[in-house]
Amino acid sequence: MINIKDERVRNYLILYKRIKGCQFCGYKKCTSALDFHHIGGGKEFNISQSSNLEKIKEEVEKCAVLCKNCHAELHEIKEVGSMAGYNKINTKELEKVLLILTGQER
Ligand SMILES: [Zn+2]
Ligand SMILES: [Zn+2]
Repeated sequence: MINIKDERVRNYLILYKRIKGCQFCGYKKCTSALDFHHIGGGKEFNISQSSNLEKIKEEVEKCAVLCKNCHAELHEIKEVGSMAGYNKINTKELEKVLLILTGQER
C-alpha cells in the first residue's frame, strides 16, 4: 500500500476500501488495516506490483475487502477449519466466511 507511487492508483484503492469496508465485520475506520482477499482461492492480489489503474480495477473486483483481523481469521479457518476441536468460530460466522470465500457475497 505504502509503496504505490501512482497517486491515482493509490487514491482509487483507498477510496475503494473506505467505501466497501471489511465485508465480514464492517470495519472501515483505517484503510491501511484493510486488505484485499482474492475470492475463490486464487493468487493473493499484489497491488504494489502494478500501476495500471484499469488492471487494478479489474483485479479488485475479484477480491473481498477484509480488515487485518478478519483476513487472518479467514485464512486460519481455511487452513485449520477441518481440524477436529476447532470450535472458536460459531456456525453463523462460518457460514458468512464461506459466502465470502465462494464469492456469493461481495
Ligand atoms: Zn473485519
Ligand atoms: Zn487472503
